[in-house]
This record gives sequence, C-alpha cells and structure tokens, in this order.
Amino acid sequence: MLKPVVAANWKMHKTLKEAEDYLHRLLELVGAEPPVELVICPSFTALALAARVLAGSPIALGAQNGHPQKEGAFTGEVSMHQLADLGVRYVICGHSERRHLFGETDAFVAEKVNAAWAYGLTPILCVGETLEERRAGQAWEVVERQLRAALADGLSGPLVIAYEPVWAIGTGVPAQPQDAQDMARRIRAWLVEHFGAAGKDVRIQYGGSVKPENAHAFLRLPDIQGALVGGASLDPDAFWRIALAASGDRPSW
Ligand code: PEP
Repeated sequence: MLKPVVAANWKMHKTLKEAEDYLHRLLELVGAEPPVELVICPSFTALALAARVLAGSPIALGAQNGHPQKEGAFTGEVSMHQLADLGVRYVICGHSERRHLFGETDAFVAEKVNAAWAYGLTPILCVGETLEERRAGQAWEVVERQLRAALADGLSGPLVIAYEPVWAIGTGVPAQPQDAQDMARRIRAWLVEHFGAAGKDVRIQYGGSVKPENAHAFLRLPDIQGALVGGASLDPDAFWRIALAASGDRPSW
C-alpha cells in the first residue's frame, strides 16, 4: 500500500519569523511518527531556515520550483542542484501558476522532472485542465498530453503526480470527488500501461481548494494517495487536520 503524501505549497507567503513559528507549531502537532508523509514547500527565502528547523524531523522539505541547469547565467533562478545541496527532497514541477503565469511549456516541465531525478529529488508533477477544457470534454486529453510530455524520457525515479484542475486552485471551489477519482484512475491506468509495475509506485495527489472540511472526501478516494494544498496549508493546524484525513485504513487500489 502506498503511504499518502500531503504537501503544503506556501506560494509567495510568509516572512522568516512566520515560517519559523509555523514550522515549530507543526512539529509539535506531528510528533515523531506521523501516519502520512508531510512535505513543506516554502518560498525560496525560507528554504534554508526550514532545512535547519526540519532537520532530523519526519517532515520533508520541498521547493516550489527548480531550474534544470546545474548552474549558470539564469538570473533569478535556483537550480535543482542547489536545492538538493540544501537538503530539499521534493520539488513541484509544472504547477499551473508556473505554466499559465510564467509561460512554462510541457517541454520545459519535462526538463525539470528529469533534472529533479538527476539530482536525487522527487518531482511533484502537476497536471490539470482549465475550465474551458473541461467544459469542452477535453480534460483527459489535456492531462494525458501533460503526462506524455513530462514523462517522455521515461520514469527514472520516484514520482508524485498532483492532479490539479486549474479552475479549482485557489478558488474555494474544489472538483467533485468523483471527477477527481475518475481522473486519478485514468492517470494510474496510463502509468501502468506505459511503465508497468513502476507505475504502481507513483502516488497521485488531488489539489485544488482542499480544506480541513472537505479533505476527507478526497483523501479517502481509492485512487488518491495524498493532496497538494495551497491556501489551507498556510495555517499549521489546518494543514495537520488535512493530513490526518489521509491517515487510517485505506483501500488498496
Ligand atoms: C495549489 O497551489 O497547488 C493549490 C492546490 O492551491 P489551493 O489549495 O489554494 O487551491
């Protein structure tokens, strides 16, 4: 059975003081052996601090983005190599805000995924359709294209896929759990078709307006093994309540 992974995407939030207070509170709540894997993805400014505070704890450190080149003239960027050097273990690749606000292409996302593996990081690959694409009946077509592009060179390491319908991110309007389940099942079938047994080890998260109040509806779905949480992850108590919704006896898919 796959251990659920619940990840916090802080986006562009929190000063160092706020980050430190949050992490100490979360450590208090989580204890020594949390029932699910927890990942915190702070802003770059708080990564070094978080690496220090979380060292030796069961909470993993993640980054919200990473550049595939090891080093060089890429002003404003931080490389996967630098992230790994800091103790980062997960990196979000292809978040819809990166794709839509910063013009990241499927091909660039693929470079990031491959670079993450090259430096020993686990990519959290985000896929998902816009509202227009869903209404046009193209949701799977879009997700399949994003998967095919990002994994064109194969599955070369541990992977988490976050199914995040774009229209559900930050809007307070989550997907219908049945739609999330249907998409997760298709993603799983695609992974197994293309990568055989290795495709069964990939954890699939749902992301998009997950809150403590609705987390249970998503985290108990048979083909979902975790969540990627934005807004509700900014409060440690709310994030922990979401994580707890992923624990307990889960059906094996
Ligand atoms: C996200 O940023 O990946 C996300 C799911 O945000 P929110 O939970 O705020 O919808």
